[in-house]
Amino acid sequence: MRLRPSAFLAAAAILASGAVHDSSASASAATKATPASAPSSGVKPPPPPAEVPDLREVKPPVLCVNCDQPFDTITHKKVLEGLLNNPYISELRKALYLQDTYHQFESKAHFDNCDFDSAAAYITELLDETAKHVDAATKAKNGGDKTAMEAAILKAFFSLGQALHGTQDFYAHTNYVELHALKAKKVTDIPVLVPWRAEGRTRIKELQQAGLISGFVFWGAPQKCPSGTISHGNLAKDTATTKSGKVVVANLQNTSQYKIAVYLAREASLQLLNDAFKQWPLLKEVNGEAVALDVLVDRRGVDTP
Ligand SMILES: [Zn+2]
Repeated sequence: MRLRPSAFLAAAAILASGAVHDSSASASAATKATPASAPSSGVKPPPPPAEVPDLREVKPPVLCVNCDQPFDTITHKKVLEGLLNNPYISELRKALYLQDTYHQFESKAHFDNCDFDSAAAYITELLDETAKHVDAATKAKNGGDKTAMEAAILKAFFSLGQALHGTQDFYAHTNYVELHALKAKKVTDIPVLVPWRAEGRTRIKELQQAGLISGFVFWGAPQKCPSGTISHGNLAKDTATTKSGKVVVANLQNTSQYKIAVYLAREASLQLLNDAFKQWPLLKEVNGEAVALDVLVDRRGVDTP
């Protein structure tokens, strides 16, 4: 769906006003838009390395899936150590990282280029694949074939990790944070959007009418943004140092847009895992309730052409 020009202008105004709270980060995301209709220029960046950093290096949040209480700090450390050799978490994290290597140029894998319908459909597709692998694992388990069950469960965690990547990229690669941050009194007021559920997909469509966009990536396809849409390089919040990531929001205690994106991506990830473990109890049975999960791992580079 293409945005009406008026809707886009409204979004640009929100983006511009959201970016001027901090003079040190006054590079307004909206004022440096790269025309979406510009011919592709520059060279496609090389894929990021197909490596997954050690859990001890990245110290990711440890989430308790379908638990009443998150782990406390001491327990957190112990649980993380226990996950170092967990093959399911390895597979989940591998998928999170490898999406950028193997699906680098596909808009749908990263919520790029305003390709919202395909990005949401792709998450559904990946969860359908998870379901198939869990079915295969269940059959293998019932047939007493532990090796086949193990192999199928690993595949299920891989598909789930791929779905988590897109779910997290939604917050880093769209102006969802910018559209909500100014109206919120605290970060937790910002609703967590769940693109794998029908209500989340409906919400995305509503927000598109209200100016939701994602960044224009000249080397990604397909490209569905209206002409003049801000570039991925200027909108992305994958790290604390990107133009948009370092912008701080005055009414949210000067929290950076990167931190807001991280918070939302982590909450959405936990909700997706809650749903997945509820729908497929076998995943929780083999893995346990603890999951270590990297957030916003996209390292494809954010340079503009
Ligand atoms: Zn990505």
